[in-house]
Amino acid sequence: MTHSVPDHQDLEVIVQHSGDGLLVVDEDGLIRFLNPAAAAFLGKPAADLIGRPFDHPHRPGPPVEIAIVRGNGKSGVGELRAVDIPWQGKAARLVSIGDISERALFDRLQDDFISNVSHELRTPLTAIREAVSLMRDGILGSVTDEQVKFLNMCIRNADHLRRIVDTILDISKIEAGRIRMTKKNSSLPEIVQAVVEAFQPVAARKGLSLSLNPGADSLQVFADRDRITQVLNNLIGNAIKFTSSGAITVSVEASDGRAVCSVSDPGRGIAEEDLPKVFGKFQQFGAPADPSNKGTGLGLAISREIVRLRAGDMSVRSVLGQGSTFSFTLPVYRPELEVHNHIAARMADSKHPFLLFCVHLNDPAPLVQAAGPEWLDKLTHRIHRTLEPGFRSVSALRLEPDRIFLTLEAPQAGGMPARRLLLRGVKETFFNMGVDDETDFSYGIAAYPRDGETPEALAEACAAGLVRERTERLDQTILIVDDEKALTEATQMLLEMFGYRHIQVAHSGMDAFEVLKRAIPGLIILDMKMPGMSGHEVIGRLKESHETKDIPILIMSGFEVEIGRFLEYINRKAILTINKPAEPEILRKMVYYLI
Ligand code: ADP
Repeated sequence: MTHSVPDHQDLEVIVQHSGDGLLVVDEDGLIRFLNPAAAAFLGKPAADLIGRPFDHPHRPGPPVEIAIVRGNGKSGVGELRAVDIPWQGKAARLVSIGDISERALFDRLQDDFISNVSHELRTPLTAIREAVSLMRDGILGSVTDEQVKFLNMCIRNADHLRRIVDTILDISKIEAGRIRMTKKNSSLPEIVQAVVEAFQPVAARKGLSLSLNPGADSLQVFADRDRITQVLNNLIGNAIKFTSSGAITVSVEASDGRAVCSVSDPGRGIAEEDLPKVFGKFQQFGAPADPSNKGTGLGLAISREIVRLRAGDMSVRSVLGQGSTFSFTLPVYRPELEVHNHIAARMADSKHPFLLFCVHLNDPAPLVQAAGPEWLDKLTHRIHRTLEPGFRSVSALRLEPDRIFLTLEAPQAGGMPARRLLLRGVKETFFNMGVDDETDFSYGIAAYPRDGETPEALAEACAAGLVRERTERLDQTILIVDDEKALTEATQMLLEMFGYRHIQVAHSGMDAFEVLKRAIPGLIILDMKMPGMSGHEVIGRLKESHETKDIPILIMSGFEVEIGRFLEYINRKAILTINKPAEPEILRKMVYYLI
């Protein structure tokens, strides 16, 4: 048998008939190639997908799960992997999608099974325990001492089983990522202090001393107080359980930008060969410290899982016969962590693409003056309300002192129109808050998943692209199209007075399109009544082309148009009308709003 290298045609056959979906996505996130399996998984004909954005995360790295369409038209789960490749001389990504619906279903059934079984076990267990304790307490008739002994044993074991069931339920929820922790800025020394105080009587009963050694008075962490308490209960509880004499110390300190909490005991310690297993499930070493309370061997597994979910970790040092130190770390609170948390929740809620939009006030003084001390809350609320109709699921997070983050599900994620809508929405809010002057702000925008698949990367992309709105706006070109020379001159002068540096003039519709061939302006100020090509025709032609259809237009009309109040003009339309000759103040606002 001869083995030959497959030629181009062979490779083509392989790609076309592969059961796995294969796509090539270019640097701009657009699909350049896909095989039939990929088109089927995405549920659209190939022709509708080529040249379109690929809306799933596709960074090289661990595989991600995405929703796919299966052969029977039903939805399923795909596993997506991406690698960097060269494609026609440029950098691109090869994306492969495999159908893992069966495996995903199995995983879910297994999780559901564990949690259902645990729930099913709890109810009868509670009934058994209560019945037995009624008997033991003599409520149902007299019982002998011998019988009480056995009934107590039943109760102890029922309690033990109940603890196991509760813990399994807890761990299966944590593993399935189904617990939402309410992360807050909390003081770690305070949490630790409370737990240590609660355990003091327990330690005292065993003749042990238990003390807290806070290295830092205030060490703010970003965590869920109840869950951290659960971790401490476990570590301090174990320390007391496995120590027969001496002093247990708990310490809290900051190290390398993280908070570190350690629980040290001079107890029986753990053998070196057992240490690697200590955070595993159902692991217990040596004889039980308290034969009446065997423990579950799950406490440490859960505790480590909890701190890992908080972006921390847990470690152990121990010498058999000498004692152990369990330590865990947590990230120290920084405002960014709240943003990351917010974004992470948004990512978890929906796998749909969304925009992260950040508004940063460069000079909040006018807003504070107009809206009072609650200005930032009010502003956040208003921006949120203004944008909601235009975008799906807007959620807002305000961050002291002067930054607002929004996540928005956008129809055309990341494109120019979305950006313009956002800017207009924000400016509209400023006007509505009674700030007549142009508000000086910067903004950043990033698209999920294109600009980052982790909250950190997305927030970073947003911050890296922070644009000072005023500078950017004044740098934009404004094209004035009007056949009356005196009027173009007057308008140009006004715009220059407002600070706009790049003004171009065209004296006819035809001229305007000559100018447009060279560069796309940020705004067109257009006269309607012109000889040759009329303003209407100009608009028609602008709307026809992909490149020019989104340019905002300010119509200058010689006819009396109803201006009314300025605010009525502040809507999402990219075409506004203004009377001619323009009143300087109105022109300034219109241009500020439109660009
Ligand atoms: P449990 O305490 O319910 O058995 P854990 O997961 O909390 O479950 O602990 C697992 C095992 O690790 C314990 O059974 C014990 O053998 C060992 N261990 C935990 N903490 C200590 C400690 N402070 N000193 C000695 N051994 C410990």
